[in-house]
Amino acid sequence: MNLYADLCELLRVDQVTQNDAERMRHGQDESYHRPQLPDVVVFPESTDDVVAVLRYANDRRTPVVPFAVGSSLEGHVIPVRGGISLDMMRMNKIREIRRDDFLVCVEPGVCKEQLNAALKRYGLFFSVDPGADASMGGMAATNASGTTTVRYGVMRDQVRALEVALPDGRVIHTGSLAAKSSSGYHLNGLFVGSEGTLGVITELWLRVHGLPESVSAARATFSSIAACASTAVAVMGAGIPVARMELIDEPTMRGVNRYRNTSFPEAPTLFFEFHGNASGLQQDVSAVREIAEGEGCASFSVETTEEGRKRLWDSRHVSYPAFRAQFPGKRSLATDVCVPLTEFAAAVSYTRSLLDEAGMIGGIVGHAGDGNFHAQIIVDPDDPQDVGKAHDLTDRLVHYALTSGGTCTGEHGVGLGKRAYQSAEHGSSLELMRSIKQLIDPNNIMNPGKLVGD
Ligand SMILES: Cc1cc2nc3c(=O)[nH]c(=O)nc-3n(C[C@H](O)[C@H](O)[C@H](O)COP(=O)(O)OP(=O)(O)OC[C@H]3O[C@@H](n4cnc5c(N)ncnc54)[C@H](O)[C@@H]3O)c2cc1C
Repeated sequence: MNLYADLCELLRVDQVTQNDAERMRHGQDESYHRPQLPDVVVFPESTDDVVAVLRYANDRRTPVVPFAVGSSLEGHVIPVRGGISLDMMRMNKIREIRRDDFLVCVEPGVCKEQLNAALKRYGLFFSVDPGADASMGGMAATNASGTTTVRYGVMRDQVRALEVALPDGRVIHTGSLAAKSSSGYHLNGLFVGSEGTLGVITELWLRVHGLPESVSAARATFSSIAACASTAVAVMGAGIPVARMELIDEPTMRGVNRYRNTSFPEAPTLFFEFHGNASGLQQDVSAVREIAEGEGCASFSVETTEEGRKRLWDSRHVSYPAFRAQFPGKRSLATDVCVPLTEFAAAVSYTRSLLDEAGMIGGIVGHAGDGNFHAQIIVDPDDPQDVGKAHDLTDRLVHYALTSGGTCTGEHGVGLGKRAYQSAEHGSSLELMRSIKQLIDPNNIMNPGKLVGD
């Protein structure tokens, strides 16, 4: 079998490559996991192309790993058993916008910013907002979320219907365009979060939202992370419909100031965004200010202009590269646990104590309204002791989260990095998940060695 020659015959020559730079690009993601190269990279342009590749690969038991932007953080796209990296980014058309149904139909390679630019003309926006300009296919495959989840929900909440190419080449359609349904098993929910291990998503119908009439933002600084966390709980308890409520710790704020040449106070900070009409927003902002002051906030500033809001949110959005940029030549390991809201403050303090005890450099950011947070740990990928210490810390943090009733990953997904915790988290349900994988992909060609795989 000559994989490259066969695929060139199935598709066009310019849709298949064995170029070293492309294989390297498709052999890694944004994580610290060591790259492993695919044998060949294929660029499908239609569902038919995907089906042709899957039929071929299934017949020959060749691994297929869907690849989009490659922004995942747990080694999801690394082809640990070689084979085909299936780059979905040429399937990037917005097929239909149904304004009054608040729905959009897209190909999987459409990215967040591209979609929002197109929706703006219709007074709409797509709410899921991870830090990277990720693709709709990748975001669905990881059940991504981000800063706006506290108000609008995760990716699974936005997916109405999917077209999926199964490993044997069958194409199925899941869900419907209706806002709700009590009909049948929830297959949208199964494929969302399946990380390319069950099939290839070739089309998505997504829920979108009306652009709010007014938006304002605020920033509150505190003397401790614990005070940030208790403010977040109190805001949620008061039922204030914040659109974003994000936590950044002191070391991360320091990194942001250096990276952007800004002079934000270098203290534990909560960032807020409010969506609604002008008078409602004023009430929401005052209510949050009152709560923050009650929790002892050191400063509270409000941004109502678009420019001010952009500056404020830019500092949250760049926090990941900004922190890492302080340590050139190093990689970062981003932890991602989610706990019940009442456990959030203790879990964040525990993480800081683990970092300090281990003598490791790390910054903490969190989606404070969801109980989801990340420690970005700086590691030298060539120093096994350093990587080992970071793993040990992640391990302890995950076990802490699981014992608190939480999960080993709130949004980044399992990939390679969180496979070891699947049994501890899911117990006997893991066997059912493995049976589902076996039923849909009996030859184990789809992203083998990930999620529930060995
Ligand atoms: C700076 C930064 C900040 C981030 N912040 C967040 C955050 O706030 N929230 C969050 O959730 N994530 C965050 N992430 C992680 C990442 O952006 C998300 O996991 C995102 O959903 C990955 O999308 P992608 O297009 O890059 O997919 P990729 O990384 O290319 O792929 C991800 C997974 O999806 C599979 N896949 C891709 N396309 C398809 C398809 N069409 N069909 C089936 N499977 C497919 C792949 O096989 C892989 O398993 C962040 C990453 C970075 C670098």
